[in-house]
Amino acid sequence: MRLLIIDDEEDICDLIAEIAARHDLETRTISDAENVSGILSDFIPDIIMMDLMMPGIDGVELLRLLSEKSKQAKLCLISGSDSRVLNSARRLGSAHGLDVIAALEKPLSIQTLDEFFKQAVSTARPADGDNHGHALANGQFMLYYQPIVDLKTRAIKGVEALARWQHPERGVLMPDKFLDKITNGGLMQALTDFVIASAIKQAGVWDKAGHKLTLSINVSASSLLDLSMPDKIADMCNKYNVPHDRLILEVTETEAMRDVTRTMDVLLRMRLRNIGISIDDFGTGHSSLRELQRMPFSELKIDRNFISDSTKSADAAVIVASMIDLGHNLGLRIIAEGIEDEATWDLMRDKGCDYAQGFFIGHPMTASDLDIWIEKWRGQS
Ligand code: C2E
Ligand code: MG
Ligand code: MG
Repeated sequence: MRLLIIDDEEDICDLIAEIAARHDLETRTISDAENVSGILSDFIPDIIMMDLMMPGIDGVELLRLLSEKSKQAKLCLISGSDSRVLNSARRLGSAHGLDVIAALEKPLSIQTLDEFFKQAVSTARPADGDNHGHALANGQFMLYYQPIVDLKTRAIKGVEALARWQHPERGVLMPDKFLDKITNGGLMQALTDFVIASAIKQAGVWDKAGHKLTLSINVSASSLLDLSMPDKIADMCNKYNVPHDRLILEVTETEAMRDVTRTMDVLLRMRLRNIGISIDDFGTGHSSLRELQRMPFSELKIDRNFISDSTKSADAAVIVASMIDLGHNLGLRIIAEGIEDEATWDLMRDKGCDYAQGFFIGHPMTASDLDIWIEKWRGQS
């Protein structure tokens, strides 16, 4: 794998290169930003580490350049400025479509770099040679479930099903390692079918055990163009004796709004069968108020970046509060995703948000771990 370091301080480049070598990375360093464009034409990096403050070019300009020349690389930002500057730059990078995986503050320690490379190498390693279709057909995909709870009463509302690939050599892989390949390989329909079947079957098991949980399933835009989806889901619910209104489909805001007219067709058929529709990662797309009001959503999930910022920034807190009010005025239930600590839990509850999801409540886990989690949570509530 290849690493490009863009930093005008040579001793920093040397230090990073030395640690990178331990992780078998082929490294190029560049200390004058004018040459970045040139180097990218014959060296295609998997990972780029860039200093935000370089003479001759500022970080903002460099981010724009990278978004044009090297979108596929994983990006790590480095800066001597405080964490707020780093965080804004991080958001700007993401807005340019760059895959910003870390933001490190100078001075850099050997340990920080070592941990960064361990993580980055496993994230950036291409899954080529893996046969996704084969893995799907051979039962290597499985579902983890993450709890969603009521912010006022702490009652367990339900779970979100999240796909995992139990890879025979590489262990449990997260969606960011396989979803693109699944989509590009034309396998999304097959994955969605698997997810629907196993999640509804599991909901039936929980139902029998007396756990009336809602079950949220993520679906991609392509599934929303599949006119047979509503019946497929309704049939599966009937087969496992799961009431239709226990099921919620999550569609990201960006995907739902890409082609409102066509998406509306399938969404409406779902709602007519009493299946819920949730707008996922809300705040990252560009829906107009009119579209929001027209689409038959039942829930709104505020993107976790807004949630995690809300205890640190007054602006973010105002934005989240407005989203909650907006959603409520449209008759939607609101879920805050990505709640990682008690302060965020308290803030969301005080702002009137309905439900909470996040590591503070519970990580995504296997169905049997969820049984244990339910006992524990009820014991504490
Ligand atoms: P999502 O639907 O927004 O799911 C929430 C993601 O946030 C999950 O990541 C979850 O592990 C993570 N998360 C939850 N709480 C916290 C928290 O407190 N802190 C942080 N940092 N993260 C938290 P995961 O499982 O990696 O899934 C990523 C995305 O992949 C999902 O985002 C969803 O869009 C997609 N995805 C997952 N499973 C499926 C699937 O079966 N089908 C489709 N089409 N997409 C899926
Ligand atoms: Mg989701
Ligand atoms: Mg989400």
